[in-house]
Amino acid sequence: MYRTAFLDLPPLQGAAGCVQLPGSKSISNRVLLLAALSHGRTTVRDLLASDDTRVMLDALRHIGCTVEEESTSTVHITGLGTRTPQSPAKLFLGNAGTAMRPLTAALALLGGEFELSGIARMHERPIGDLVDALRQLGCQIHYLGNEGFPPLRIAHGAGLPALRLDAPIQVRGDVSSQFLTALLMALPLAAQQQDVVIEVVGELISKPYIAITLALLARFGIAVQQDGWQRFTIPAGSRYQSPGEIHVEADASSASYFIALGAISASVTGEKGIKIQGVGLDSIQGDIRFIDAARAMGAHIEGGPNWLHIERGSWPLKAIALDCNHIPDAAMTLAVMALYAQGTTRLTNIASWRVKETDRIAAMATELRKLGAVVEEGADFIAITAPASAADWRAASIHTYDDHRVAMCFSLAAFNPAGLPVRIEDPQCVAKTFPDYFEALFGVAQTTQVPVLCIDGPTASGKGTVAAAVAQQLGYTFLDSGALYRLTALATLQAGIAIDADNEAQISAIARSLPVRFADGKVWLAEADVTDAIRSEEIGVNASCLSSLPAVRSALVALQHSFARLPGLVADGRDMGTVIFPHAPLKVFMTASAACRAERRYQQLIAKGIAANIDTLRADLQARDLRDQTRAVAPLQPAPDAIPLDNSTLTIDQTVAQVLSWWQARQPFAAPAKG
Ligand code: C5P
Repeated sequence: MYRTAFLDLPPLQGAAGCVQLPGSKSISNRVLLLAALSHGRTTVRDLLASDDTRVMLDALRHIGCTVEEESTSTVHITGLGTRTPQSPAKLFLGNAGTAMRPLTAALALLGGEFELSGIARMHERPIGDLVDALRQLGCQIHYLGNEGFPPLRIAHGAGLPALRLDAPIQVRGDVSSQFLTALLMALPLAAQQQDVVIEVVGELISKPYIAITLALLARFGIAVQQDGWQRFTIPAGSRYQSPGEIHVEADASSASYFIALGAISASVTGEKGIKIQGVGLDSIQGDIRFIDAARAMGAHIEGGPNWLHIERGSWPLKAIALDCNHIPDAAMTLAVMALYAQGTTRLTNIASWRVKETDRIAAMATELRKLGAVVEEGADFIAITAPASAADWRAASIHTYDDHRVAMCFSLAAFNPAGLPVRIEDPQCVAKTFPDYFEALFGVAQTTQVPVLCIDGPTASGKGTVAAAVAQQLGYTFLDSGALYRLTALATLQAGIAIDADNEAQISAIARSLPVRFADGKVWLAEADVTDAIRSEEIGVNASCLSSLPAVRSALVALQHSFARLPGLVADGRDMGTVIFPHAPLKVFMTASAACRAERRYQQLIAKGIAANIDTLRADLQARDLRDQTRAVAPLQPAPDAIPLDNSTLTIDQTVAQVLSWWQARQPFAAPAKG
């Protein structure tokens, strides 16, 4: 997840490949509970790994289900079937409403003694309407804290409670549709001798979620008879039966960004289209109807169970006029697709946009206009006309209003024909439904211009620290190219080969196939953590020696280029700006006086508990500088277009701020975004 103040997307030219979308949260927890109530063993695949599913899995274990976790996304659950749950049991359910409500209903009907609690916020979330409905049936439920809220105690003693099932069970539908979902999932346990009828009191909200519940019940063998959205009958003799294996669908609204991506981007590599894994044409989610709208705009979409494949069809896209009431969330994606359409796209019946995470009509209109679109908005509609030509597009810093969907939608503007970058402010707001959205996008997006910022300079000039900090603030990859020379030195010595010009061929062979991995601030050589080992002075001196061998340098070029990945790269070294990335838009040549660098290195070593002598260090530094400056290939020298930065009197923070301000000045955005 990107936690930066903003994320700059460079202009993107194409996209192709496969995206695995995370499982939908609401489907995940429903499936887990249904599997737990069923006869037989269920393999659940593509489960969302989140706090809410974790507490559900723990609760199921506590009540006696066998839960085998094959991986974070695949679990096997052996359901209770006709067994009574293990009790007494205390269940902690965090802040998962999708666990608290249905478990309360199911356990109240199954019998036993249970305490259900959660975090403080959970104890502020209402459950009274559900408890009232269950009490009508004869269930014994007590509030342990405030009336109407968890924590709860269910107390029945062993065995099924005697239930009053003759009259319809009434439940309010206008507070949370989860109450009805909870009853729909629990009452099949009681519908043995007679039909059980549920009546909704008041207007039912969030009907698509009830549709999901009903579809999942059908997968587990329960055919609920539906009379509009007011009355539901669970037939006598209902029995939960495991489907054997079930895939948790991905969130269909999240799929909309990748469907749009397939519709607007041609591939620049020959690989065709975007494949989406996790949600398919048979999806039980209402937002899957987005594909009809995307097709109407020109997308070419194929699919099957659990997958979709999208290719660009008509181009430019065709403007549409659509009543979007049935796909309110995914329709925002259409507003951004409209930037690539001929004509005016009119999305109507979207008054609900005004009361979502933000006023989405106002937000979309404001941000689309920043990009150069002509936008008309009304109480319940938005009409978008794309910029007339490439010259009418504007580089924009997109404000995201703490709304995950605004952030995800506008990333698609990076495919603009003007080749302009797009800045997404506060990118971490996507965490609400899709924490790794940008990583997924970068996994398939293609660009011819990954932005690279080079920081070169002599040893101990502070460039590594500065480059790492700059990379972190921009959300860019960081390449410490010196580490590659150091790793080569370590691997060479470990192989028992002397670092000597006579061994140039052997050393360059080692360099060409270095089994290196950078992860979580650590450096790995094959299976060994060598983060500290490569930092020794001995390895530094050896790295400096082998770095003067031309074959070794060229052996490391491809590896260095491979770090230039979306969304961008900050590279530090000696020849980043001169040899490796000569077209980088910003090159900084960082220096500090030899005395100052020796002092810094001395402090570093002392802090690590390594004894050091400042005069020796200074002499070493100067010898290394001389070797780096005078070697025949890629000598240490500033690129002609590098900006010199002597940081002898600057702090690290000041140096980082200076480099960032030069970078910002090269971006086409009006003002840097605030954090
Ligand atoms: O920057 P660092 O001190 O980790 O680099 C170790 C050695 O690798 C340097 O002394 C230098 O000789 C060499 N090097 C290089 N080109 C780079 C980075 C480092 O020659 N781009």
